[in-house]
Amino acid sequence: MNTFVSKNELNVIFITMPYIFAFFAMVLSIWFQHSRVFYAVCVILFSIVILSSPGKLNQKAFKNGISILIPIVFIILAIVEERGITSKHGLIKGLVFIAMVLFVVIDSGNVSPWLEKLNPLEFALKDNGIIQGIPVISVFSFLICLFILLTRFFILSSNMDIAFTGATLGCIIILHFTRFPDILSLFSSAVFLIYIIALFEASYSFAFHDALTGLLSRRAMEHEFLRIGNRYTLAIIDIDYFKQVNDRFGHQVGDEVLRMVASCLQKYARGGKVFRYGGEEFVIIFPKKTIKETLRILERVRCGVQSRPFVIRSPNRPKKKPKEEKLHQGGSEMFRVTVSIGVAEKTEKMRNRTDTEIIEMADKAVYQAKANGRNCIVY
Ligand code: GH3
Ligand code: MG
Ligand code: MG
Repeated sequence: MNTFVSKNELNVIFITMPYIFAFFAMVLSIWFQHSRVFYAVCVILFSIVILSSPGKLNQKAFKNGISILIPIVFIILAIVEERGITSKHGLIKGLVFIAMVLFVVIDSGNVSPWLEKLNPLEFALKDNGIIQGIPVISVFSFLICLFILLTRFFILSSNMDIAFTGATLGCIIILHFTRFPDILSLFSSAVFLIYIIALFEASYSFAFHDALTGLLSRRAMEHEFLRIGNRYTLAIIDIDYFKQVNDRFGHQVGDEVLRMVASCLQKYARGGKVFRYGGEEFVIIFPKKTIKETLRILERVRCGVQSRPFVIRSPNRPKKKPKEEKLHQGGSEMFRVTVSIGVAEKTEKMRNRTDTEIIEMADKAVYQAKANGRNCIVY
């Protein structure tokens, strides 16, 4: 009957779904040279292949081994720096994971595997013959893994860590329901799908965020212009004497100052979107606001940057002193930076003016602010 054939076909699609998603996740991770996702997908894919048809391997031993291995692999991937797949660093990581997987496979192939003897955690759900617990040591490894991933997420706000948290929870479910092919298929598909989404999100974020400051990039600003309409105020913020900071304290301190100013802008620019325009210049766009409405906010931004001291705790401080205000505090050195702000507004009447012209107007205002002695706002 037709219905049976189509049901079987559906079943085939359902069973092959995780492999299709895994294939796409692997292709994308190779494309983006994202070794963290690549190795995670490889390990999970290999695990579900063996769990679905263990062959001569002892399934319980393999499951126990893999349930210890997955969180350890996830922890290593979270704390070791990302340097691509085909780099020396990436290949060494791969060899380490292959060695770990081989250990699990070899032990599971033994007549009396050591991994089979690990005590499973006694869950209320546990062993009714179908649902199997995972070893106590795996539960601890998973908990440590989740703790590390969530800590990274809260500190770094990295979406990849939240994706790995989802993948970790998915793996725990997969490992508990290894005897249910449907659940195995469904949750492994979900895990691979999470990785596909995370990879797209990471590439989007890469294009639209500035790596140094974490602010939206100039490209994101260009996209913002496409939808902003004809009423907005735009401010260009330029750090004063920034070249001197670089020359006297080094490029790294310069980068720290850029990060500090970026965080100030985000803190004080209420109702505005902050972008890194390039170099030591930032842009704040206030949609549907007039210059008058933004001046108080921009004044807060200017004062906020000025009042935040920058402290250098370097043992090999430069001998030359910077022009800016500088205070000495024990072994550290303190200085402040200021910003000059140029503001321009686009109104309904100026609908023929391009966004580039508005930027030019704000840029001219910045020049005027510099000429007026810096650390001020011109509009
Ligand atoms: P003004 O008060 O007139 O704005 O002077 P300025 O020194 O701030 O301006 P200038 O345009 O002469 O110098 C900008 C410097 O910013 C030059 C460049 O080396 C530095 N710079 C640009 N991008 C970066 C960056 O990403 N990191 C660091 N550390 N420096 C940067
Ligand atoms: Mg400049
Ligand atoms: Mg400058």
